[in-house]
Amino acid sequence: MKNLVILGGGYGGMKILNELLPNHLPEDVTITLVDRVPYHCLKTEYYALAAGTISDKEVRVSFPEHPRLMIKYGEVTGIDAANHQIIMDNAEPIVYDDVVIGLGCEDKYHNVPGAAEFTYSIQSIGKARRTYSVLNNLGSGSVVGIVGAGLSGVELASELSESREDLQIKLFDRGNHILSAFPERLSKYVENWFVRHNVEIINQSNITKVEEGRLFNNEKPIECDVIVWTAGIQANKIVRQMDGEKDRLGRLVVTPHHHLPNDEHVFIVGDCASSPNAPSAQLAEGQAEQIVEVLRKRWNGEPLPATFPTIKLKGVLGSLGKKQGFGMMADRAITGRVARILKSGILWMYKYHNG
Ligand SMILES: Cc1cc2nc3c(=O)[nH]c(=O)nc-3n(C[C@H](O)[C@H](O)[C@H](O)COP(=O)(O)OP(=O)(O)OC[C@H]3O[C@@H](n4cnc5c(N)ncnc54)[C@H](O)[C@@H]3O)c2cc1C
Repeated sequence: MKNLVILGGGYGGMKILNELLPNHLPEDVTITLVDRVPYHCLKTEYYALAAGTISDKEVRVSFPEHPRLMIKYGEVTGIDAANHQIIMDNAEPIVYDDVVIGLGCEDKYHNVPGAAEFTYSIQSIGKARRTYSVLNNLGSGSVVGIVGAGLSGVELASELSESREDLQIKLFDRGNHILSAFPERLSKYVENWFVRHNVEIINQSNITKVEEGRLFNNEKPIECDVIVWTAGIQANKIVRQMDGEKDRLGRLVVTPHHHLPNDEHVFIVGDCASSPNAPSAQLAEGQAEQIVEVLRKRWNGEPLPATFPTIKLKGVLGSLGKKQGFGMMADRAITGRVARILKSGILWMYKYHNG
């Protein structure tokens, strides 16, 4: 029997499982899925989990069941590619014939002193739960500083402001306008929403230091009861520690067949894989589909295409609380209720197909 090991049951790992099970797994192949969490987590909804507007259960999806799928729950600590082994914390190494690394990403603190120690995070389920706990225990009038006004910072700030009107929320943004990756019209729409909902946007900010209960913006101290960091991500530490060429987010550079250039048995998916595109769940799923094609062709002894078509991304949608949203679909900016309904619909479909 050959063993395909999937590290991480996130969007990439789950897509590989769903493509191979139940009908496309050859009789002589088993799959071992490894994750520290005993269910697939909907990371795109962590902003709402942290804000306390959805329950924990709403971000969990059960892993599939199959006679040749083994699931190991635990912490991956390293990859010994020379011996085809996954190193685990407090467990025997797992031997693989092929491995897909889909361990997601972590916060990037840009060497800001105190940021790792004194800020909260929404980059893993455990961290999002801690953020939920601290945010929801705040008393009236407390100050919440959110550092970073990209998609996740904006979604968290809006969700929190809508559900806790009694908090003072400060959104720290590096640029002249929030959501710098989006057209200016869209950024202005979102800024106006924040003005109406009493969220203070602090543009051209540069957080130079963080201490307990305080951050320094352009060296000026600002007292905050809770600080949440949404100002950058990088590939999972396991991947950053591996040999091989990496991009500026620590993501490993791969071949057109999504494996390491010097090892055709180590595939990389999602936020761990270098790509010209920004990391996203959609991208992870597109890469996963192509990895499955490579594996299936190899297992069947068929030749591989030299390259795959470019992965088509449908666009980006963000929420502004429960009723409004914004996004880019087919290169067109959309705002308001329609954007929010579309976002909810996509989540519903995802849960329907994976539940
Ligand atoms: C608030 C927020 C909103 C977002 N909104 C969108 C959106 O609207 N659309 C979109 O496309 N993308 C969105 N994203 C990005 C998207 O969530 C990620 O790009 C996507 O989750 C990446 O998928 P992945 O499979 O690479 O990793 P993940 O989905 O992060 O899965 C990684 C898995 O690895 C496991 N793991 C990690 N380390 C270890 C370890 N050492 N040992 C064992 N297990 C481990 C984790 O438990 C997890 O199950 C959003 C992200 C955030 C934070």
